[in-house]
Amino acid sequence: MFNVQCPRCGKMFSLPEAAPSVKCPFCGQDILMQQAPNQQAYNQQPNYAYGRPPGVFDEGPSGKSRGVAGLLAILLGTLGVHYFYVGKVGGGLICILLSIITCGIWGIVALIQGIMLLTMTQEEFERKWVNSMSTFPLF
Ligand SMILES: [Zn+2]
Repeated sequence: MFNVQCPRCGKMFSLPEAAPSVKCPFCGQDILMQQAPNQQAYNQQPNYAYGRPPGVFDEGPSGKSRGVAGLLAILLGTLGVHYFYVGKVGGGLICILLSIITCGIWGIVALIQGIMLLTMTQEEFERKWVNSMSTFPLF
C-alpha cells in the first residue's frame, strides 16, 4: 500500500501499488507520483555518485577508512595499530617504541591523532596518512 496526499485538496488516500500517475478520488486532480527510490540500487552505488561527502567510516579510494584509523588510534594508539592499518608498518613500530620510551605518554598523542583522524576530510586522510611517503606521519 502507498499512501498519497493530494497536493490540491490535501486528502490522503491509498494505492494498492505504485503507479506513475493517479487521479485524486476526491477532487480529480492528476497527481504525478515520484519515483520510489530504489534502495538497493542506491546501496550499490559508490558513495561519491550522490555528491554527498563521504561518511567518516566510508572507505576512500585507497580502501581505508579514516573512521577506522581514528578509532584504532584512540583505542590501540599506544600499539601503533592505526599505522599498521594504513600500511605504515615502520610507523607502527616507532609508535610501540615511543610508548615504551615515554612510559605510555605517547598514548596521549595517539589519542589526539585519533580525534584528528575522525574530524579530517577523506581527502586529507588519504593525502597525509595513506598516500604520504612519510613512514611516520604525525598529524
Ligand atoms: Zn484532491
